[in-house]
Amino acid sequence: MKITCPSLSTLGVLVCGLSLLLAGCAGAGITRPTDPKPIDPERPAKAPNILFIFTDDHASHAIGAYGSRFPDHITPHLDQLAADGMMFRRCGVTNSICAPSRAVILTGKHSHLNGVLTNAERFDGSQMTFPKLLQRAGYQTAIFGKWHLKSEPTGFDHYERLLGQGPYYNPMMRSPSDNEKGHTDRKHSGYTTDIITDLALDWLKDERNGDQPFMMMVQHKAPHRHWQPPPRYLDRFDDIDIAEPDNLFDDYSGRGTAARIQDMEIATTLTKNDLKLVPQRGLDEAQTAIWNAAYQPKNAELKQLELTGDNLVRWKYQRYLKDYLRCIQAVDDNIGRMLSTLDELDLSRETVVIYSSDQGFFLGEHGWFDKRFMYEECYKTPLIVRWPGVVDGGSVEESLVSNLDYAQTFLDLAGVSAKDSSVQEMQGVSLVPLLLGNKPEEWRQSLYYQYYEYLENQRTAHMVRRHRGVCTERYKLIHFYNLGEWEMYDLQEDPKEMKNIVDDPAHAATREKLEKELEKLALQYQVPDDRGSVSRDPHQRIEAYQAREQQ
Ligand code: CA
Repeated sequence: MKITCPSLSTLGVLVCGLSLLLAGCAGAGITRPTDPKPIDPERPAKAPNILFIFTDDHASHAIGAYGSRFPDHITPHLDQLAADGMMFRRCGVTNSICAPSRAVILTGKHSHLNGVLTNAERFDGSQMTFPKLLQRAGYQTAIFGKWHLKSEPTGFDHYERLLGQGPYYNPMMRSPSDNEKGHTDRKHSGYTTDIITDLALDWLKDERNGDQPFMMMVQHKAPHRHWQPPPRYLDRFDDIDIAEPDNLFDDYSGRGTAARIQDMEIATTLTKNDLKLVPQRGLDEAQTAIWNAAYQPKNAELKQLELTGDNLVRWKYQRYLKDYLRCIQAVDDNIGRMLSTLDELDLSRETVVIYSSDQGFFLGEHGWFDKRFMYEECYKTPLIVRWPGVVDGGSVEESLVSNLDYAQTFLDLAGVSAKDSSVQEMQGVSLVPLLLGNKPEEWRQSLYYQYYEYLENQRTAHMVRRHRGVCTERYKLIHFYNLGEWEMYDLQEDPKEMKNIVDDPAHAATREKLEKELEKLALQYQVPDDRGSVSRDPHQRIEAYQAREQQ
């Protein structure tokens, strides 16, 4: 960072000063945000707009700017966003699965406190969220696309959301209404990634109140399973082979039981529907004709090859990855449309653009697709922030950050005081000091993780066992507590996490230190203990969850 920033102590004074100024607004209903300029010379004069573009299952290693083994032209607009802003290389998630990540982002609290431990829970929309606090601070808020939290969105002046997971083609979308139900469902024709962007752009151009700053969330279904690309890209990458990871045929010998007994292997778990070997549902007649013209010849070719064994796995890998990347290509197109529209509306200079995903994804590493594990490919998620006039283009940040931090970051951007009691209840840290190029000396040294979505003795999606863990700059310690197994990895020596060193005497001291760190974080975040006891958890929600698990 080239910009000159105030010292830490100066920043502290500035934050206090800001909170004093904002205190006068508390309880006064909707007010204009206080312009931060007189307080913080590094910040723009006006509280910025916030455009948060968010995808589902987009691994950072499928973004050119992060370094990718895939064709380098798949994400030109995301790469440009990184070139114009800051790219976070070590952004971990607290719980690598869709709905829980969304609930963490909205609340700034870990899953056991926001109540969404797995994809099964309904989000309690009465709890405090960052969009509600932004509304209180004078922002106009809107969300378009995937919501995936079962309850209706709260804290938004407007929303148009997919129902549940939502389809890739011709989606039904729900928006609030004055009718008896409180909402209206409308069927759209076309490709969902494009439609979500269309709706967001219409709002930006026609519905937005220019007197207020806005916070708009644009949440894509893509590139979630089962990876249906748009008609324009059905043949893309047909003429190339996608590079394989060198652990595509991992035999899991260096790991524990959990890696061996999952159900997320390209070889065995992908279905004919995932692989587009059967007719696709949800497409209209014209779309089906285009689809069949693209896939039927490719599928006929496969039939002739009569592949088996590793060769068939390799073919499945190519089909999976090409469809995944085709979906991402459409996301990237639409990011380009969003950014162009910001330029056309002369909003780019006063809008912070954030790109992220609910978690990463396995793209053939360890022979897998999907997520859930605390292993790097899906534990890390992309995070790119463009803040014109503040963040130097091409900045790369290596500090440990998390999706737990987004809420407080957005609120800090908006000038909401960190002293606000609702903000104080949040468990993350604002990333604004990092964006200002002024990393606090006491920045966190570790991140806490916990994955819950496994029910003993039941068929559970992908069969990934419950675990919790701690990640530091160099090491990762994971406890699969229901299996009674520990794993530890040296991310510097073994970035692909192929060799569990937890029982290596040479690393005994590191293990002991990490176990203590894990316990410290669990206490800090009020996490119930490993065996599911609720003795340390003040919230009844987790008790209900555990009771259901017993049934
Ligand atoms: Ca997801």
